[in-house]
Amino acid sequence: MRISYLALSDARCTVQIPGCNFNCRGCFSNQRHKGGVEISAARIAGHIPPGNEVMLAGGEPTLYRQELLSLIQKLDRQKIILSTNGYLLDRSLLENLGGITVHIDLKALDPKLHRWYTGKDNATVLEAIRLLHELDFDFEVSTVYISGIVETIEIGNIARFLSGIGDIRYKIMRYVPVNNFSSRPGVQEIQDAVNMARKYLGNVSSSIENRSHPVDRKIVNIS
Ligand code: SF4
Repeated sequence: MRISYLALSDARCTVQIPGCNFNCRGCFSNQRHKGGVEISAARIAGHIPPGNEVMLAGGEPTLYRQELLSLIQKLDRQKIILSTNGYLLDRSLLENLGGITVHIDLKALDPKLHRWYTGKDNATVLEAIRLLHELDFDFEVSTVYISGIVETIEIGNIARFLSGIGDIRYKIMRYVPVNNFSSRPGVQEIQDAVNMARKYLGNVSSSIENRSHPVDRKIVNIS
């Protein structure tokens, strides 16, 4: 599989995997495009400190289906979090991923908005969320609040949809502006969206009160 680098902090190792099957208009990830180096799952596993939590992030890690499964198998005693847009997360992949934690993005519930923003349909993403619940995964759904595009009403619709599946953990992320696509949402906008989602779900948080990424981290390039 290809990787760009490993980011190491005290407790977590993030494996940064390049390339993505979405084409989000406001993409803020420097991993969207293919790059990095080709490396075996065994070599990647050899660079990951034992005992660390491992975050598999991108880009989109599920683009490398077999290699991803092989890496996860080699890390079988470590807590693994897969961060994904969910588009390729079908039943057969999920049945082989049991025991890991999944963070899945739902960019928008409105199919037209999702297609406009990402270039892809959201039907398989919605199905992946249903499957994660059915297969009893530890998982959370997240949505990026983007002013003028994905705001409180859309987030309320997403929360209502999720509540129809179960009391799913839901996190609202504050958009990081790139290329003048949109501005940084205000704290009150995020809080209003959180309050709206809490009408439907019992466990809602935001990136303002609950950061996902460690601040102190060391970048390790593998070749
Ligand atoms: S899914 Fe993530 S990495 Fe891929 S294009 Fe969208 S924002 Fe960028």
